[in-house]
Amino acid sequence: MSAFGTVFCDDFVIAHYRDGAWQEPSIEPVAPLQLHPAAHVLHYSSSCFEGFKAYRWGDGKARIFRLHDHVARMQKSAASLCLPIPDADMLAQMVIDIVGNNIDEIPAPPSSLYLRPTLIGTLPNIGAAAAPSHEATLYVLTSPVGDYFDGGARPLKLLIEDQKARSTEQLGSTKTGGNYAAALGPTLAAKAEYGVDQVLFCPGGDVQETGAANFLLISDDEVITKALDTSFLHGMTRASVLTLAAELGYKVSEREFTVDELLQKIDTYEAALSGTAACLAPVGTFVYKGEEITVRDGEPGPNAAKLRDALQSIQYGNAPDTHGWLTEV
Ligand SMILES: *Cc1c(COP(=O)(O)O)cnc(C)c1O
Repeated sequence: MSAFGTVFCDDFVIAHYRDGAWQEPSIEPVAPLQLHPAAHVLHYSSSCFEGFKAYRWGDGKARIFRLHDHVARMQKSAASLCLPIPDADMLAQMVIDIVGNNIDEIPAPPSSLYLRPTLIGTLPNIGAAAAPSHEATLYVLTSPVGDYFDGGARPLKLLIEDQKARSTEQLGSTKTGGNYAAALGPTLAAKAEYGVDQVLFCPGGDVQETGAANFLLISDDEVITKALDTSFLHGMTRASVLTLAAELGYKVSEREFTVDELLQKIDTYEAALSGTAACLAPVGTFVYKGEEITVRDGEPGPNAAKLRDALQSIQYGNAPDTHGWLTEV
C-alpha cells in the first residue's frame, strides 16, 4: 500500500457556508478547489481538520470509529478559530454519505479508510487579519490506508525537547494547520541531528505530546498521561485507551508529570504514542541532553500491546462495542 495519506477515493463531499448559512452538501469527484488568492485561510491560517477511520467488517458494512466525538471536536476547533461552526448533524451525515459512497474502496482490517474532514476560511479579504472569515468551505476527503505496523511494531525514538512548545496555550487543543507548521522546524532539526522519529514537547519540563500524537507511560498496573488542558490535543485514541485500561484493571492517572519523573519511570514503565494513524505505538529510546536512554530493554512492551489489541478488537469487530463507539454504514 502507498504511503499514508497519498491515495484518495475518487469522490469527496463538500459544503459551502455563505450568507450566514451552510448550503446543501454535494458529493463530487475530487478535483482542485476554486479558491480566491485572497482567501482568508491562505493568509491567516483559518483552517482546521479531523482525522479518524472507518473499518469494513466481514459483513460488508463499514463501522466509523467515534464519529460524533470527532464531529464535536471539529466544532470546538472551528469555534476557537472563529470559523463558521459546521452543524453537527450535517457533518456527521457528510461523513456517513462519503463512507457509504466509497464502501467498496475500504480494505479489510487491519487496513481501513482514513477520513479527513477539513474546514477553511474562504473570505477573499487580505485586510481581515483581525476579522473572522464569514465564508467557509467544509469537505471530507477519504483515503484507504494500510496497517501502520506492517512489518512489526518498530519501537520509536523520541527527542525530549524541554524548552520549546509544540503550540500555544490558546490553540494547543485545536486541530489547526499552524500547529503542525510550528512543530515542523524543531522536528526536522531533531531528525537531522539525532536520527529520531519525533520530538516529545515538554516546555519547562511539562511532558505534553509530540507533533501529532499523545504520550502515555504504561506499567503492569498503571497508565499515566497528562491531564486534559488547553496546551495539547485531546486525542480520541488517548481517551479510548484510558477507558479500556480502567476496565482492564489499570489505575488511570491523568496528571502532570515532568521530564525528570519520565526518566525515572522508564526503567520499569513502557512509553507509547497514541493517535488514529498508529493506534498505540511503542517508544524504545529517548534522546535527552545529547544522551540516548532506552525504555526498559528498548523493545515493545506487553502492556501497550495489550491495550492496543483491546482497542483494535473493537474497531475490527472482534470484541463487542460496549461503549457505542461505532457507527454502522
Ligand atoms: C490528531 C492529533 C492527536 C491524536 O488524536 P486522535 O484523536 O487520537 O487521532 C494527538 N496530537 C495531535 C497534535 C494531533 O493533531
